[in-house]
Amino acid sequence: MMITGTTQLLGVIGDPIAHSLSPVMHNAAIQALGANFAYLPFRIAPESLQDALNGFAAIGLVGFSVTIPHKQTIMPLLSEISELAQSIGAVNTVYRTGTGWYGTNTDIAGFLAPLQPLGRNWRQTSVVVLGNGGAARAVVAGCAQLGCRQIQVVGRNLTKLTEFRNAWQPAIADQLSVHLWDQLPELLPQAGLVVNTTPIGMHPHEQDSPLGTAEVQMLAADTIAYDLIYTPRPTQFLRQAEARGATPIDGLEMLVQQGAAALQLWLNQPAPVEVMRQALLAHLAGRAAKI
Ligand code: NAP
Repeated sequence: MMITGTTQLLGVIGDPIAHSLSPVMHNAAIQALGANFAYLPFRIAPESLQDALNGFAAIGLVGFSVTIPHKQTIMPLLSEISELAQSIGAVNTVYRTGTGWYGTNTDIAGFLAPLQPLGRNWRQTSVVVLGNGGAARAVVAGCAQLGCRQIQVVGRNLTKLTEFRNAWQPAIADQLSVHLWDQLPELLPQAGLVVNTTPIGMHPHEQDSPLGTAEVQMLAADTIAYDLIYTPRPTQFLRQAEARGATPIDGLEMLVQQGAAALQLWLNQPAPVEVMRQALLAHLAGRAAKI
């Protein structure tokens, strides 16, 4: 990639940011498209967020991805926010318009991409979502878009679960219920889709699983087991579920597809999804070889 006097800037903000895979994926795509852009990581402390936005405006940055801890706190600093991002209360993609910064959320599209080709009868599908953090919000909004019959969110902290439930508009709240972990035996046998949004099982705790051995035996054989984690691939949860006959989906495709949707917004042209996928796979394989 040749940086010239007319190269335009994109980036990702977070704190920390060194672990982010977004620069690998986006710069591979930019190169494949021959676009005159560069995508950089920016570590921005929470108290510097407004300064960073002012600086980005001053240097004419075209757009950026947003990751932890800024996905919610950036919202009041933007001039416009898509309905989608408002409905889940989080922004992961921002771009510059004539009047300021526009924020939206591509995590929902990313989450849905590997589910849509499966052609299930979503209106008959009950979902169990493990965890009630930021990613769970995109998962709930995505399941509501699919029209799932019931969305049952399972967490370990009743106060956080109640806040989670109360944050939704009625259209989604009607399908949503929240539960503590000990209620899993009542929920799992009916679930057509079980999504792990907790970090349980993520590297370096690869032997951990959000489900115990007895709980895994409660999974219906035709269920879809979806883990948002992408290191390792597959996780212990997906291995266990696949052994029960479930269809496994890991988090890599969500990562690729949310990135592709963002790049399309910034560059105003289709993203080279396969290039992005291969860049991530090669990077993760190289990283695994070093562990
Ligand atoms: P987060 O906001 O910190 O939420 C994590 C959730 O997991 C919280 O509800 C937390 O419970 C729960 N949790 C954490 N440790 C737990 C434990 N030991 N037992 C029970 N519950 C536990 O994080 P996030 O942003 O939602 O991310 C969650 C996971 O999704 C991470 O692994 C992340 O890498 C992955 N992710 C993947 C993608 C993708 O594109 N594939 C996108 C976003 C996130 P409390 O609320 O009670 O603390």
